[in-house]
Amino acid sequence: YSDHSNEIVECDGCGVSVHESCYGIQESGSVASNASSACTEPWFCEACMAGVSQPQCEVCPNIGGIYKQTDTGAWIHLVCGLYIPHISFFDQERITRPTLFELNYQSWGRRACTLCRNIKFARTGVCIECDAGMCKSYFHVTCAQEAGLLSEPNEDDHELFFGHCKTHSDKEQIRKRKKNWLTHQLSYRQRGAIIEAEREADRSIAIGA
Ligand code: ZN
Ligand code: ZN
Ligand code: ZN
Ligand code: ZN
Repeated sequence: YSDHSNEIVECDGCGVSVHESCYGIQESGSVASNASSACTEPWFCEACMAGVSQPQCEVCPNIGGIYKQTDTGAWIHLVCGLYIPHISFFDQERITRPTLFELNYQSWGRRACTLCRNIKFARTGVCIECDAGMCKSYFHVTCAQEAGLLSEPNEDDHELFFGHCKTHSDKEQIRKRKKNWLTHQLSYRQRGAIIEAEREADRSIAIGA
């Protein structure tokens, strides 16, 4: 959804879009001064700002989406940072500078993702556990996102970041979330393609073609 206090901003570098509040963009302050006038002023996600296209997430095998740079300079998906326990953000308000410091290094590759399409990737990164008691289902956050298995915390409820396996999720909700995710992916790809085409055109002009 979108309302005035929580506008969707689109990155002018890669086309990714995000709710202001989900990305830690606030109404007041320096970051927000770019963002609240998103229609007129360009806005760039952290990866594009850093000149990095499609970083590799440190904690999952999937590519694309919104990234945040960790305190050590690595990259993780924003969503991975929010849903993996023990990943915290130095600046909670702005949701910046996630740290993997509290994550045990043994977490990497410890559990196999039950959702990974390519089983080669199932043991890369860090999996979360189905939040239903005693359920032993594990999955990557981004795999769960695509499969419609992540909770959708509302704005007052930032604590409620968890995932449920297919068995423990409501079928209708899965369907709805998957549809939303696909719609989001589609417009992200379309915007990305448009930006790329514009860049291509600029290049042709520059070389006089
Ligand atoms: Zn971007
Ligand atoms: Zn990730
Ligand atoms: Zn996976
Ligand atoms: Zn479960």
